[in-house]
Amino acid sequence: MFKKVEILDEKDPHLRRKSLPYEEEVSKEEKKLVEQIITHLTYSQIEEYEKKYDLRPGMGLAFPQVGINKRLIIIVYEYDEGKFDNYVVVNPKIISHSEEKIAAEAGEGCLSVNREVEGHVPRWARVTITGLDLDGNEIRIRAREDLSIAFQHEIDHLDGILFYDRIDPKHRFYTEDEMRLI
Ligand code: ZN
Repeated sequence: MFKKVEILDEKDPHLRRKSLPYEEEVSKEEKKLVEQIITHLTYSQIEEYEKKYDLRPGMGLAFPQVGINKRLIIIVYEYDEGKFDNYVVVNPKIISHSEEKIAAEAGEGCLSVNREVEGHVPRWARVTITGLDLDGNEIRIRAREDLSIAFQHEIDHLDGILFYDRIDPKHRFYTEDEMRLI
């Protein structure tokens, strides 16, 4: 049976804390929660379920958003119509990135930010991430374009950073000449 995930709002102090790395294994309860989050994020991107369960569409979530200040992120990425890839990364780290920056043309959204915040968020176009999977195996992921933005957005949550912190108040929007907008 589907159970909605309780997601904390930006005003909750968990969202502004620096989260601790996992030294121990991810617990059984936490693994169950990860499964629940994957289902939630997947359903939120499928119109039928989004409506049925009144979900806000979102492709990623970090553990601080559910009240756990530990370094774990989850991304459910629709790589093709109705086809999803799940990424669960424990202790994720960006080990390299492109020189090129991009920004989501429509701006970014966040399941913890229940209001419109307008502005372009500069992000690296390509990143390589290392970390662990849920069983403690080392993994390495290369992400580009919108998936790269998603990883940077979620990893920021682990450091208490919200997407709008990265919007320059003196320069909220870029032109195509200044930044590649996707
Ligand atoms: Zn977010």
